[in-house]
Amino acid sequence: MAKNKTPGLNIVFVVSEASPLAKTGGLADVAGSLPHALKELGHQLTVIMPFYKHEIAKSGVPVTPANDAIHIWINGTSRQAPLHTTDIEGVRFLLIEQDDLYSRDSLYGASGGAYEDNLLRYTFFVRVALEAAARQSRPVDIFHCHDWQTGLLPMLLKYQYQHYANIAHAKCVYTIHNLAYQGVFQPSWLSLLGIPSHDFNTGGFEYYGQINCMKAGIFAADHVTTVSNTYAKEILTAEYGCHLEGFLNHYKTKLSGIVNGLDTADWNPETDPHIAANYSAKDPSGKANCKADLQKELGLKQDANTPIIAMVSRLAEQKGVDLLLAAIPWWLHQGCQVVVLGSGDPHDEHQLAALSQHHPKKMYFYKGFNETLARKIYAGADIFPMPSRFEPCGLGQLIAMRYGTVPVVRATGGLKDTVADYAAAKTSATGFAFVETHPDALKHAVGSALNVYGKPAAWKRILTRAMRRDSSWKASAKQYDELYRSMLST
Ligand code: ADP
Repeated sequence: MAKNKTPGLNIVFVVSEASPLAKTGGLADVAGSLPHALKELGHQLTVIMPFYKHEIAKSGVPVTPANDAIHIWINGTSRQAPLHTTDIEGVRFLLIEQDDLYSRDSLYGASGGAYEDNLLRYTFFVRVALEAAARQSRPVDIFHCHDWQTGLLPMLLKYQYQHYANIAHAKCVYTIHNLAYQGVFQPSWLSLLGIPSHDFNTGGFEYYGQINCMKAGIFAADHVTTVSNTYAKEILTAEYGCHLEGFLNHYKTKLSGIVNGLDTADWNPETDPHIAANYSAKDPSGKANCKADLQKELGLKQDANTPIIAMVSRLAEQKGVDLLLAAIPWWLHQGCQVVVLGSGDPHDEHQLAALSQHHPKKMYFYKGFNETLARKIYAGADIFPMPSRFEPCGLGQLIAMRYGTVPVVRATGGLKDTVADYAAAKTSATGFAFVETHPDALKHAVGSALNVYGKPAAWKRILTRAMRRDSSWKASAKQYDELYRSMLST
């Protein structure tokens, strides 16, 4: 007798960025890869995001008009949003056009800042996304929303979209990728944007008199996840709760942690076309070519034995760039080379640029976002520090491990959950960890890594173990699958 297969669910991701179309950080990696892993489990996936014209053109992904447009009134204006579509390996992307809102130089604001009309931009996005989902031929089972930009969706669905039969019964999962960015706006936007104000109180989405989009998401979603187990616990404390710890504790029965995975087909040193030589855990010898290529390209002294300490990151307080800045002169003095790729805080950018100008043969700083260079760095470097003050999951360390670059991380959030510390168990280590948010703790941990680097056989063991770590979405996608199904059965 044929096996009775459980039918797949109709899952709609509503998200502000997704690789390969538009990316500022780890959220795009997740939104670009988790849907594929869920599709592999038999579900139907649609990803709805804004049509960022410039970014999407740069990505080179062909996108076609969907011959459909959605009309809504918002902020006293009638707006018509044409839809565009593309199919990436069986996942349908639906892109919402509105040039004056999304065709800008950056996704969220100039040099790490925020556009003043961000609430208009993302309320419009969420409303059109709901209308577009309602037009699907099949009822939606799950809306999966991400971060503050889509925090209003569960509440709008509950109060304003119940007349659409295709979405009225959908359940909402809300994932917090970073609690530090909550989307806080003046209350005057409430009436301008027609946001229902029933729950605009401290028990709802009011935050010291302001609108808080992340609070709205936590409040109205059927389930809230965050991107690692440790971070799910940390955000219930005053140290990591960003002033929402009390609120989160109130809702902790609907909060859980599911660690992020990686698109291991895309982030794969065996096939990556951007690196000088391909290599694997079985034969990592090509990594030496990648290192030589990186040194040559960045104008660093070409020496196979000089350790390269590298970081690819947003330059923000969260990432512990101040710790890095305090440690770099010491590492350079010790004879290491240092490479940093990132942008963000102008002060950090300035300091890093000054250091690299002082030590052109030993240090290289690239200000900006550069995916190709990022790949060359992951492949060519030896040690990858992530001294984050907090880190919901972190993808940098997962990518570094996959490319055999050994992470040195602060033991917090997802860094704690994904990197096995050498000090805890040498035979299972995939990296090094430290606890104190202090430059000396970082220096000490990198010092331990450099010690092992000096013993090639021992270093190769850590490096290949890191490369073999399973960072795929397999286990985590299964957990989302179980979560969605359990929500629909209640
Ligand atoms: P976050 O999402 O907090 O910025 P994550 O570690 O979760 O940090 O994800 C960062 C992602 O963005 C990784 O894929 C990393 O390689 C990428 N990234 C960060 N900064 C840059 C940059 N300047 N150029 C290219 N890629 C970058």
